[in-house]
Formats: sequence, C-alpha cells, structure tokens
Amino acid sequence: MFSVVANWKMNLSISEARAYLELFFAHHPPLDKIELLMAPPFTVLPYLSTMIHQNRFKIASQNVYWESKGAFTGEISPPMLRDLSCTHVIVGHSERRQYFLESNEQVANKARAVLHAGMIPIVCVGEDMLAYKEGRTEQIIKSQLALFKEFEPVWIAYEPLWSIGSGHIPSSQEIAKANHTIKAELPQCRVLYGGSVSSQTLPELMKVKPLDGFLVGGLSLKPLEFCTFLQELAST
Ligand code: PEP
Repeated sequence: MFSVVANWKMNLSISEARAYLELFFAHHPPLDKIELLMAPPFTVLPYLSTMIHQNRFKIASQNVYWESKGAFTGEISPPMLRDLSCTHVIVGHSERRQYFLESNEQVANKARAVLHAGMIPIVCVGEDMLAYKEGRTEQIIKSQLALFKEFEPVWIAYEPLWSIGSGHIPSSQEIAKANHTIKAELPQCRVLYGGSVSSQTLPELMKVKPLDGFLVGGLSLKPLEFCTFLQELAST
C-alpha cells in the first residue's frame, strides 16, 4: 500500500493534536487505500499511542538515540519508542543533519538500533541546492547510503534539501532517477519522496513510477488540506 508519513516536526501540543485529529478524521481520510503514519513530537507520542487500537494510523518517531538506556541525558531510546507503539522512526532528517550536525555514521547507528528494537527506520537522504545545480545528486545519495547496504527492512526518503518547505520540487524524471539510484544501492528498500508535497505538486509527483510513498512536512499540519490531499492521492 502507498504510505504517507506526516512529519509534524516541532509543532502541536497534546490539546492541539487532539483538535487536529478530531477535524482530520471527521473528514474521512481514505485510510483503506493509504497507509498513514503520524510522526508527532516526542511529547505527543503517549497521547497518540492511546489511539492506536482504532487502527487508523501508525506512529513514527522523528528521532531516536542509538543506546537502549543509560546516562544520556535528554535522549530517548528505541525500546522507549517501541513502548509508545512506534512502528517506524525517521532518522537523518536534513534538519537533524544541518542543525544538530548528525553524521552518516550516527544516522546508521540510529537506524541499526531502530531495527534491533523491532521497528523500521525511515532514512532521509538528499542533495542541497549547490549539489543539485552541479549535477551531483546521484553521488550524494550513494555516499549517504553507503552504510545502509545490509539494513532490512528499511525505508529511504529522498528529500532534496532545496525542496523542503520551498514549494519547488524536482521534475518527475529527476525524482525517478534518484529513486532508481536508491533502488540500485538498496534493492530491499521502500522509497518515499519528500519535499513540498502538496495538492499543487501532486500531478507531477504522480508521474514518478515506481514510488512507495511520501514524507510530508508543512502540509501535514493543516488537517483539512492534508485530508483533501490524501483523497486526491487515493483517487489518482
Ligand atoms: C520535510 O521536512 O521532511 C518535508 C518534506 O517538509 P515539507 O513537506 O514542508 O517540504
């Protein structure tokens, strides 16, 4: 099934999340056709985990630390996320790499620990604007994936940095080429696209074949628009 991961980033309190979900589900997102994963901030995970019995969405974490427990003040471990019903964990999002200087090695440590705890890592890769302009997308993706060859199951989210939050996306041919590079490196993976996914970009994005899903940022914070987007996606 096509998967959509909603990355709320550092947004929504518990009460805001409750109001969001009420509105969102009142508009009947097509959950028979789309596998939906919500990735809220850590503080909202306990609330979402109480709703998991309704079987409408899965829960992903936006980050994790690689040790199971110990003196790592401020960190959250894979077993702790498993405890809160997480099935997937986003690792190596470009904001983590950029603002918190996460290296490929650290991202691989996180993904390994996620797998070890019985969850699926969603590893984000993608080039910045300079590399895109210089035609180095393939090279960047290959170098970011070098440590992930043995990982299974694993989802790879191709997210060009210049596309995130900008309203601009690569052409469908460029995304298809990046996906081909990813699949050639990791034939076992599922490939998602992320970066300015919206109702406006959907027609171009739907030309990308094959594609296993989307990682959605800004749009996923607007419950009605997000629901409409999912309905459009389901009817294509
Ligand atoms: C993201 O940050 O992962 C993302 C895809 O953001 P947006 O959809 O807002 O471009």
